[in-house]
This record gives sequence, structure tokens and C-alpha cells, in this order.
Amino acid sequence: MTTASDTTNTALTPAVHETYDLVVIGAGPGGYVAAIRAAQLGGRVAIVEKQYIGGTCLNVGCIPSKALLHIAEEYQRFDSLAEIGIIVPQKPTFDMPAAVRHKAKVVKQLTSGVAALLKANGVTIVNGRGVIDEPGVVTVDQPEGTRKALHANKIILAQGSVPARPPFPGIDGAKVIFSTEALELDHVPESLVCIGGGVIAVEFACLFNALGTKVTIVEMLPSMIAYEEPDVVKQLEKTFRKRGIDIHLNTRVEAISDADGKKSVTATGPNGPITFSGEYVLVAVGRGANPEGVKGLIDHGLAMDRAKVIVNDKMETNMAGVYAIGDLSGKTQLAHVAMMEGEVAAENAMGGDVHMSYATFPRPVYTFPEIASVGLTEAQAREQDPGVKVGTIPWAANGKALASDATEGFTKVLVGSYGEILGASIIGPDATNLITEFSLAMQGELTVSEIIETTHPHPTLSEALREAVLSAEKRAIHIYQRAK
Ligand code: FAD
Ligand code: NAD
Repeated sequence: MTTASDTTNTALTPAVHETYDLVVIGAGPGGYVAAIRAAQLGGRVAIVEKQYIGGTCLNVGCIPSKALLHIAEEYQRFDSLAEIGIIVPQKPTFDMPAAVRHKAKVVKQLTSGVAALLKANGVTIVNGRGVIDEPGVVTVDQPEGTRKALHANKIILAQGSVPARPPFPGIDGAKVIFSTEALELDHVPESLVCIGGGVIAVEFACLFNALGTKVTIVEMLPSMIAYEEPDVVKQLEKTFRKRGIDIHLNTRVEAISDADGKKSVTATGPNGPITFSGEYVLVAVGRGANPEGVKGLIDHGLAMDRAKVIVNDKMETNMAGVYAIGDLSGKTQLAHVAMMEGEVAAENAMGGDVHMSYATFPRPVYTFPEIASVGLTEAQAREQDPGVKVGTIPWAANGKALASDATEGFTKVLVGSYGEILGASIIGPDATNLITEFSLAMQGELTVSEIIETTHPHPTLSEALREAVLSAEKRAIHIYQRAK
């Protein structure tokens, strides 16, 4: 969980002392948002970052993966252009190094923008690894050899997470990669075995399949992205299989080795031992909280749940003045949740009384088609409210989706006994943008009446959300439903 180097060597150079209202450790989406919000509230703020402004999300997570997914989707589009009258004489070729350079440009632009925003807000950026030996002081050994002791009454811990490294034999071998390396390949792999069928695996499987890689997904649970609505995941599975992705469920990977010039992945499946072969192996079996630099606080009694820092809904830890946010406190591992938690922690650190609400955050998956959900699944909703009504609308019943040649999938909404939205799931075009309407409805405690009374523009994909609600009320217009 923590290492010996989690404490500083006080025999080193005497420190330069600086005093702040708030010190944030980690400049990922949680940390940088917290720092900016606290500065907006008038705080004197420092943010300590050991590697890169923007953290995992902007540098090796959300943004670079979405840049490459966008490119892969554009490339795949050429396969069906003839159907809509665009004749491309031959399939274009793909230049992986150029795509990776484009991705790097996107990352640079965004991370430079965030650094500029921090500075514009008067936040001091301290480069180096932050370590807390005693409450109230963050020590940073800077790359240029200076040691800084940053004194603050309030500290926000935002050190994020790191990929889980299962102790499989062969995990350290060549061509065994994690998501970070998968974003930096210099060619399109001929074949790829994904260990895990969670969010990272399905996004990368979708990406490389579109570029021409033979992809295999090996997932130990009975379903990919197991926490999502089962019929949505089934639809994705069907689409993936149609595109040639080989999916093995209920199959637990145990070892990786080399055979016949390729990687060989050994697993146990429903019918016993099974082996998969690929040029590369992508390990995507989860990420663990990174409580780096806080051994001193743990020794002083910081409450932990294994590697995670325990917090309440104000993002307060059990130690006065110490907050934790994002993947480190790990209520969920999503950038937008980390950002909201950053704002909440900053407000509270600056004297406010703000609480996090977890009931309405959207869960996006950037495959094509996209998946997005909020709130409960149907099974969870039925458990909570036996009177739940389910509305489902296929994209084929939506004019804009038809006109855009994007009719795969559906929108499903769960309406509670009082007309409230208990949850929603979308698989299909622009799902990750559309889901916000249901999040907002849930956050604002709107009922179906307000959604139905709101005119949605035509033709748009957003009409399907209203139509799904109408369908739950057995009064959909664009699919046939027997009247109530
Ligand atoms: P991080 O972003 O991990 O940032 C933590 C920062 O702290 C890092 O910059 C690190 O260098 C720094 N740090 C650590 N220890 C110290 C120390 N002692 N001193 C100084 N600095 C330190 N989420 C989504 O919502 N949408 C997505 O599409 C999405 N895609 C993803 C794709 C991939 C491939 C991956 C890996 C993740 C993805 N995520 C996505 C998850 C998202 O990246 C994380 O939830 C998010 O980055 C968490 O933010 P954070 O601020 O808690 O931590
Ligand atoms: P995950 O927890 O989503 O999925 C890991 C999967 O690996 C699980 O389904 C698990 O059953 C499986 N697994 C574990 N051990 C296995 C074994 N030995 N054999 C076969 N399968 C095994 O984790 P992830 O996909 O690594 O993603 C990490 C985090 O990053 C997620 O929690 C997610 O929140 C975040 N993320 C989010 C997005 C997004 O929002 N679009 C994208 C990427 C990552």
C-alpha cells in the first residue's frame, strides 16, 4: 500500500518553507479542479504534481483514449460509405504513428490549457512528489534539487489510481501491455488478447478491432461491463461478435507465456482449460487507489479501507483538515466524479458546507455504439420499487437516428411509482451526451410529467428520451403500444 520512500529523508537539504491556505496533492481532474475552485473562493493554493498536469485522465486515460477511438471510428466508417452513396475506390490505409502524434497533440493542448488556467487563477504549481510526514506539512523534493515544505491547515489528497497488476506468471513479459502502453503502439497489432472485459478492455477492443486487429476478450464474470444493464451489454456483445471480436465469458486468466513467436494466455473457462494467442496482451483488470506519500498520515491514524482513503460525503477524512477525492477515495473511478468531488472538497476546505450526491452521476462507455447509464438497472429498480415501469425505444423509431444511419441500440428508462426516474440506460449514437438529460431530471427530482411536457426539438436524438418516458407510460407515439 505504501513504501519506505513514502517518508522523506529529513537529513537532506534544509527545506524552503511556504505557507498556503490549501495544498492539493495530485493534479488529475480531481486535484486541478479542487485547486481552481479553492482559488476562486479566495484561497492561497498550491498544487503538487510529480508527473503530469491533468493526471491519468488527460495524459493516459479519458482524453487520449477518446482521441484514438474517434480516429478508429472514422476509419471504420469507410466500410459502409458505399451504402449511402459515397464510393471510395479503395479502403484508405492507416498510419498508426500519425494517429498517435495527433493524440499527443490533443493531450498537449488540453494539459497546457489546464496549466495555464491554474496559473491564471493564482494557483502555485509545485513540481515533484508530495509526501506528508506530519499533519499540516507537505514536503516536496523538486526535480532541480530544492526541498519545499508547504504548510497548510487544509490538504486535499488526490493521488489517483494505478493499474492493478495481477500476480500472473508472465505479467512482466514483453508485449504484455496496460492501457498506457496501448495508447503508444507504433503499429496496428495483428492480434490482441484483452484480459478483462471491463470498461478499459471494451473500449480498446472496439478501437483495435476497427483498425483491423483480431481481438479476443477474456472475462471471468458471466458478462462484460458487469455492472451495466444486462440487455445493453448483450447488445454490445452482439455487435462486437458481428464485427469479429472473440468474446470468452466465465473465463479466468491465470498465466501468460510465449509460444510460437506470440503471447499465449492460459485460462480456465466453462469447459476447462483454454489458451488464447495474440501478438500483444492487454491487461485491464481494474485500477487500485494510489495512497502514495501519505504513510506519515496513516501512521498518525488516517482511516483507510485497504488502499483507499475513507471519506464522508463532504470528502472529509477522519483527520481534521484532510480531504480525499477521486480515484484515491474511490467511490467510483470516473473523471467527472473526481471533478465534482474536487469542487465539494474545495468548498468545504474554504469554509463551506457542501455534500456530494452520488445518485445521479452518469456512467459512460465510449465504444461505438456508445453506452451511457445513470441510476439503477432494471433489476435494482424492481428490488427497490415493485411498481417500476419500464420504457424502451429503439433508435430505429427515431427520425434523426435513421437519417444519420445510426439505428443500432435503444434507450431504456425506469420510472418509479411516483413518476420519478429511477435509472436509464442508452446504447447508441451520442449516448454519452444524451444521458445528461436523465441525470438532470433525477438530480432535479423531475417526474415523467415534466419530461413529457418539455418539447424536444425535431429531428433530434433527444426526442428518443422523451419517447422512452412516453413508452413507460404506455403512450409512445413512434412505436405501437396498446393504450392504457
Ligand atoms: P488521476 O487522474 O490519477 O491523477 C492523480 C495525479 O496525482 C497524477 O497526475 C499523479 O502523477 C499525481 N500523484 C500521485 N501521487 C503523487 C504524489 N505523491 N505527489 C504528487 N503527485 C502525485 N474516466 C471517465 O470518467 N471517462 C473516461 O472516458 C475515462 N477513460 C479512461 C481511460 C483509461 C485508459 C483510464 C486508465 C482511465 C479512464 N478514466 C475515465 C478514469 C479516469 O482517468 C480517472 O477516474 C481519473 O483520472 C481520476 O482522477 P484523479 O484526479 O482522482 O486521479
Ligand atoms: P474494471 O473493473 O471495469 O474491469 C476489470 C474486469 O476484469 C472485470 O470485469 C473483472 O471481472 C475482470 N477480471 C479481473 N481479473 C480477471 C482475470 N484473471 N481473468 C479474466 N477477467 C478478469 O476495470 P478496468 O476496465 O481496468 O477499468 C478501470 C477503471 O477505469 C474503471 O473502474 C473505470 O471506472 C475507469 N474507466 C472508465 C472509462 C469510462 O468512463 N468510459 C474508461 C476507461 C476506464
